[in-house]
Amino acid sequence: MTGDIGELKRKVVATIEGIRGQLEELALRIHGQPETKFEEEQAAGWLSEVARKAGFQVEKPLAGLSTAFRASFRGGDGPRVAFLAEYDALPELGHACGHNLIGVASLGAALGIALGLGRFPGTVELIGTPGEEGGGGKVILARAGVFDGLAAVMLFHPSSRTILWKYALARRKLFIEFIGKAAHASGSPDKGINALDAVIQTFNSINALRQHLPDDVRIHGIITDGGAAPNIVPDHASALFYVRALEDEYCDRVLERVMDCARGAALATGAQVNLELQGSYKSLRTNLPLARAFKENLEALGWEFDQVDPKERLGSTDMGDVSHVAPAIHPYLSIGPEELAGHSIEFREAAASEQGLAAMLAAAKALAMTALDVLLCPELRDAILRDFAALS
Ligand SMILES: [Zn+2]
Repeated sequence: MTGDIGELKRKVVATIEGIRGQLEELALRIHGQPETKFEEEQAAGWLSEVARKAGFQVEKPLAGLSTAFRASFRGGDGPRVAFLAEYDALPELGHACGHNLIGVASLGAALGIALGLGRFPGTVELIGTPGEEGGGGKVILARAGVFDGLAAVMLFHPSSRTILWKYALARRKLFIEFIGKAAHASGSPDKGINALDAVIQTFNSINALRQHLPDDVRIHGIITDGGAAPNIVPDHASALFYVRALEDEYCDRVLERVMDCARGAALATGAQVNLELQGSYKSLRTNLPLARAFKENLEALGWEFDQVDPKERLGSTDMGDVSHVAPAIHPYLSIGPEELAGHSIEFREAAASEQGLAAMLAAAKALAMTALDVLLCPELRDAILRDFAALS
């Protein structure tokens, strides 16, 4: 079937090129009216409306999230492939992570196949995944089974560089609270129990623990309550920590050690401790056969990938949870110079720049081409499944 895949890809690419103006306008509109996590009513409405008008069936809300949606287009019998649309902005900074480009690139990919081909062996889905910035929207959707049974799940993320794949760390969010006893800090210190001391002792114990952890582990925290006044022994203090590691299992072991640091601090100070795990992202597992298909397609569009150590400068993403239930990729396309930092005013400008829009369009095309590979090549699907099974 390889012979006519090339022809179909050209058709789909031409279709995306044909709606370029509409896609660019929408990306700029979302950029100009930023909405933060789980409040993306306009963006989710605009994206799903365009899909609905193109003949997609739209489910909205999805999994109880009012700004999540799934738009499906069935081209015939066959596998289901999904493009994920992010569209949330950062508080105060606006679209400084360029999610406006992610959402519209995925829309463009889905439209390219649906409008360009109409009939094809399978279903394409555009899944609106809100609240990536600190909300973990995909974790909620993954738990609800939204990604189950998909042959491939894809999106692109804007960046300073073009990177085929890199790891993302498993992440656990731990809230630690100590309850002590208030007393006059000078007049009757012997009657008080100092909750802030327990927080400080927790930080010190964690700092001692660091010497005995491998390089991929990250532990970082802030004090969220440190007392009210110097002359009152703090009867309440709290801290919020992120614990991260390459592997989920190891991340949980480190989390347990961090909780022990807090328990030890409680024992040492006499304060009571409450521990609350407030959220968890799984590590990102890139499906390599799927990534290689994307690489070939983006290169065919004239793009080149930067050579990057996949374990360098890692964060975490809610795409991790998706990658544990379905074969997934999370490639990066450059939208500006190498020194461009994420979550900055410069990045926000790049997300509305000519270069940003060009990256979005290239991503839409390469994502659509890769979906065609998955829909039309049983050999690729086998390789994807083998790789996915090996990771599980
Ligand atoms: Zn982002």
